[in-house]
Amino acid sequence: MRKFKTESKKLLDLMINSIYTNREIFLRELISNSSDAVDKLYFRSLVDETVKINRADLGITVAFDADERTITVSDNGIGMSKDDLDKNLGTIAHSDSFEFKQSGLDKAGLDDVSPTDEIAADVDIIGQFGVGFYSAFMVGKKVRVVSRAYGSDEAWAWESNGIDGYIISEAERASHGTDVIVYLKDDTDEETYSSFATQQGLTNLIKKYSNYVRYPIQMEVTKSRMKERPADAGDDYTPEFENYTEVETVNSMIPIWKRKKQDVTDEEYNEFYKTDFHDFEDPLRTISLHAEGTLTYDALMYLPAHAPFDMWSKDYKRGLALYSSGVLIMDKCEELVPDYFNFVRGVVDSADLTLNISRETLQHNSQLRAIARRLEKKIKSELAALCAEDREAYAGFFKEFGRTLKYGIYSSYGMAKDTLADLLLFYSAKEERMITLDEYVAAAPAEADAIYFAAGDSIGRLANMPIVTTVLAKGYDVLLCDENVDEFCMMALQDYTPKDATEPDGSTKAWPIKNVGGDDLGLTTEEEKKKAEEATEKNAGLFDAMKEALSGKVERVAVSTRISDAPVMLTTEGAVSLQMAHLLKEQPGSDEGVPEAKIVMEVNVDHPVFAVLKEAQASGDAQKVEDYTTILFDQALLVEGLPIEDPLQFAQRISALMK
Ligand code: ADP
Repeated sequence: MRKFKTESKKLLDLMINSIYTNREIFLRELISNSSDAVDKLYFRSLVDETVKINRADLGITVAFDADERTITVSDNGIGMSKDDLDKNLGTIAHSDSFEFKQSGLDKAGLDDVSPTDEIAADVDIIGQFGVGFYSAFMVGKKVRVVSRAYGSDEAWAWESNGIDGYIISEAERASHGTDVIVYLKDDTDEETYSSFATQQGLTNLIKKYSNYVRYPIQMEVTKSRMKERPADAGDDYTPEFENYTEVETVNSMIPIWKRKKQDVTDEEYNEFYKTDFHDFEDPLRTISLHAEGTLTYDALMYLPAHAPFDMWSKDYKRGLALYSSGVLIMDKCEELVPDYFNFVRGVVDSADLTLNISRETLQHNSQLRAIARRLEKKIKSELAALCAEDREAYAGFFKEFGRTLKYGIYSSYGMAKDTLADLLLFYSAKEERMITLDEYVAAAPAEADAIYFAAGDSIGRLANMPIVTTVLAKGYDVLLCDENVDEFCMMALQDYTPKDATEPDGSTKAWPIKNVGGDDLGLTTEEEKKKAEEATEKNAGLFDAMKEALSGKVERVAVSTRISDAPVMLTTEGAVSLQMAHLLKEQPGSDEGVPEAKIVMEVNVDHPVFAVLKEAQASGDAQKVEDYTTILFDQALLVEGLPIEDPLQFAQRISALMK
């Protein structure tokens, strides 16, 4: 018995017991090794004339024996000599594929030997997983490898229980290639290893992880058919069934994303999307990308037409499937798409990724980050194109996923705004349709220099709010925001620099984004302001009484410069608006204290109601002043679609008024 090297033993232990929690990937690892071995032989045949290989004969076979509890992965690849077995399987983490790639027989090397790129593309190596083979010990209590190197007439067997060592002995094999026989562990309460040794189990795993391996993966499958009806069968004959076996190629071999765009029909793209991403509906848009250069990869991405049912649940995971030369590495690689594009589905396939098994290394992988950056740009430009070319489709998209984009701006504290701001749509009160911020700016009157919005719980209600109608009457559009995230998004945006905003002097101008209920609308002239201040001064006695009546709910009562129809309106000073204060209060944990809105009650002194208030004040009826003031305050809240503090008292006061 030869001993594993000490460090190998430690690694082996670590891996079997902790790194891979996902046991089923052992099959993927063994198949990838086989695919590498076949690749290597094929490569030899290209550069060495004495090696006569027909590519069509190369392949991989998977078999199982339920009684013996074994799974066998075989290939007719390059095989291993006695030395190879010792060196390659005796030292864990000694990856020969890696050396092969480094030693000049990789793509760069190939260019020296052979002229065509086609060959290079065909011979890249799946490997580089380092410890792949040993994953067999996650499911196997014993693994036996029988191998015959190409060009040799001896075969050797390597056998180990994966604990402390291995035995190499003479064996027989009809021709070159390797069989890896995994003797499954006994079933436990946690894991039924025997479920791997089934036709269904294996086919599923092959399709899941190795569907796009470039060589056929064949399996002898048992099927059932009806026996032929005997000639002398009577009326009471019941059909009989018999089992028969057939060799089937389980994998589909050529991934759709590797095919040239012009060779793939829309239906094929859509079918792939629907089967692979479990959607019953065609995608809204298909995005394919082929990148070459320091990093070569293919990406095929989809914008779904509708949000999946679990989109807004905590369990929803973003990410694209990550493949290395057609072998699935990870179902959902989060690192490939930012959170605000979490609705994008798809795959990325690169032969260049040096992938390690742990998630930690993935996160710090600079190649992956480079891919992610490029994908983000691509998704962005596709969305912008859709928005420009097919507004109806884009509006449909935005209805489903706009919230994600807005949340992206908010949750990044505005850092993602360069990517996302021009993709936003808001409801224009003036045009009564969804528009972009660029469209807002383009349609604004010449003297305008801000983007106005109003936030509340319904477009209909917002459209009728006094301040909105006032701003509209002045000729400015107002964006009506009825989603919770809207105001936070606007606050994170702060301003917007239109796409073609170059001023005559070459500079760009940012348009501040302003809440119509805020204190710095900038729509009043100095003269109007002065008039309002004077009027406020004149009514100081009444306003003090009103403020008193509202016992701390408002900062001040003042004469309004902006309302014409309503008797009063509530505005705020500072960053926190009424809507926002309300939303914050509804957040879990808000008892700890959330920022309060600084409310200003603006009074329309031209309104008949104000005359009534003045009269009450003049006649010394303090109770009346208090009642009317609180009614007006509550009314104003209701107009905004906000809850009032004491509905019962409000109702009683109204009733009293009517009596
Ligand atoms: P990796 O796949 O990353 O190289 P493994 O531990 O899976 O690491 O395999 C170690 C080495 O064993 C491989 O590099 C390869 O040389 C050899 N090997 C494994 N499986 C086969 C096989 N089916 N045919 C030929 N060689 C193999």
